Amino acid sequence: MTKEMICILCPNGCNLVVYFDEKNPDGFKVENALCPKGKEYAQSEILDPRRTIATSVRVEDGEIPLVSVKIDRPIPKNKIFDVMREIKKLKLKAPIRSGTILISKVAGTEANVIATKTVERVK
Ligand code: SF4
Repeated sequence: MTKEMICILCPNGCNLVVYFDEKNPDGFKVENALCPKGKEYAQSEILDPRRTIATSVRVEDGEIPLVSVKIDRPIPKNKIFDVMREIKKLKLKAPIRSGTILISKVAGTEANVIATKTVERVK
């Protein structure tokens, strides 16, 4: 099978042409990559695509109404909706400290949802 993709790991944005057989990952061949990371990127995108999530969650009694949150490691792409569903259920009350783990091992993944901003309580 042949697939074209752009490597997003650096500003060069190489236009990769990938030849692969899903049953034989060792047979991966990648053209147009300026460095070895292009092949790693293509393999990861085809065999185990992962993504990170950054969003915001409403905070009760905060100096601002929302706190930014993110997951602390990439998750399998097919888990994104499950993770977003869990994040949507969060009910937060100020104060929230940046770096606080809000959900541990969210939706059965290895990722934690953490706050990326401090929101003080309104006086
Ligand atoms: S293949 Fe290498 S040089 Fe090209 S975009 Fe990816 S990381 Fe950058």
